[in-house]
Amino acid sequence: MGSQLPLILRILYSSVPFLILVFIWCNEIYEVFRVAVFVLPFYQDSYDFIVVGGGSAGAAVASRLSENKLFSVLLIEAGPKAPYISDVPLIVATLTDTPLDWSYRTEPQKECCNGLENNVSHWTSGRVLGGGSVLNYMLYVRGNKLDYDNWEKLGNKGWSYDNILAFFKKAENQRGRYMSDDAFHGTDGPLSVEDRRHSSSLAKAFIEAGKELGYEEVDVNGGNQTGFTTPQVTMKDGQRFSSARAYLYDGKTRSNLFVLPKAFATKIITVKSNGKIKATGVEFNVFGMTRHIQARKEVIVSCGTVGSAKLLMLSGIGPKKHLQDLKIDIVKDLQVGHNLQDHIGNGITLLHKDNAVAPPHPLNFMAHLDFLFNGKGPYTSNNVEGMSFTASKYSENPNWPDIQIHFFGLSLTADYGIVIKPSIGISDEVSCLL
Ligand SMILES: Cc1cc2nc3c(=O)[nH]c(=O)nc-3n(C[C@H](O)[C@H](O)[C@H](O)COP(=O)(O)OP(=O)(O)OC[C@H]3O[C@@H](n4cnc5c(N)ncnc54)[C@H](O)[C@@H]3O)c2cc1C
Repeated sequence: MGSQLPLILRILYSSVPFLILVFIWCNEIYEVFRVAVFVLPFYQDSYDFIVVGGGSAGAAVASRLSENKLFSVLLIEAGPKAPYISDVPLIVATLTDTPLDWSYRTEPQKECCNGLENNVSHWTSGRVLGGGSVLNYMLYVRGNKLDYDNWEKLGNKGWSYDNILAFFKKAENQRGRYMSDDAFHGTDGPLSVEDRRHSSSLAKAFIEAGKELGYEEVDVNGGNQTGFTTPQVTMKDGQRFSSARAYLYDGKTRSNLFVLPKAFATKIITVKSNGKIKATGVEFNVFGMTRHIQARKEVIVSCGTVGSAKLLMLSGIGPKKHLQDLKIDIVKDLQVGHNLQDHIGNGITLLHKDNAVAPPHPLNFMAHLDFLFNGKGPYTSNNVEGMSFTASKYSENPNWPDIQIHFFGLSLTADYGIVIKPSIGISDEVSCLL
């Protein structure tokens, strides 16, 4: 599709991801300066709590711990504070494979990923304060009630949905259509949740199609998840609202919460006493220097799916055989990293000649101004116009869906193969069929 585009337009569209990359690199350089001059000289030798990894979870945990003024809390994050450009929802896919992404790749797969280059899956993962919430598609989906109830049944006390619901409500600042549903939504929390602000006519058609199939339009975060909806998103005034914005900045700074970006944790320091293992501190690397810091109470590891397992293993906590192979001293033989499951995503592209949606032209200044001054227009779009949860015949319960559909208004090549194709790693062979 890219070759059908006149050269001048191709250059124009291609310059957008390049300019975004320049912004991100400038932010990296500024962050090095800021951390070296204004942050690093002021950290202490010990804190009550050390939270390692300032992503979606870590930012919230560090902030909540520091609500108690008697505790001192250190948050260590490998990435920088996010640049403002990452708050523009439409550019989500351009953030992949930039310095804000760990850019993990799987090994070439034998039985799947056939539409991807070399059968390799791209595992985008935030390397930035706010973690995945800076790079993700902003869909606000809590998960299914029955999953939580099942986790409690499996022995995880306190994880039933009825228990967890109070915390979802406490976290949420619902500003959209479910604002007055106080049985399921909160309006006083730090995390801003809105309805999408820009949709094509296809969003409505998607809901209507669901109704034709006998599904209702539902609040997927309400009493019943099965059905069709237009998504709720973690945005504020049409801009991305990451967990870092919700919990760490935008007026959330506290003197007992110290945030250290650009610091990469390399080891959890542990001691053994009376047969028990206790985490007493963290070793980390900042600007090529190794530093140690003590935790008076606890170390919380929130480095994400891959990062947490890796840090634990580097600290000697992991499968014995694997640690022995890597010559890491064993602190505890544990099945860290086992049962890792990826979710399978399947794409189907349909073209509708009367309702084709394309990204805004880079020189459409009205769209820029609409975003900047009104928080509206195509730049507020995360591209996911509709969503549904349905139960296949394999599901145990119709209220426990096992299929989630994300309905994109754009095809995977609507951006002329410039951004989405390389970000997912779609092969040339498949791309020209889309
Ligand atoms: C492209 C994409 C789209 C997504 N879309 C959605 C969506 O629309 N809705 C949704 O609900 N979910 C979505 N997700 C998933 C969601 O973003 C993640 O589940 C969530 O961010 C995970 O949170 P976390 O705190 O566990 O990990 P992360 O947010 O990944 O945070 C881990 C943090 O730890 C840091 N870290 C790692 N190792 C170290 C170390 N050694 N030292 C210091 N810091 C370290 C990382 O830099 C990172 O900031 C998406 C994910 C991706 C990648």
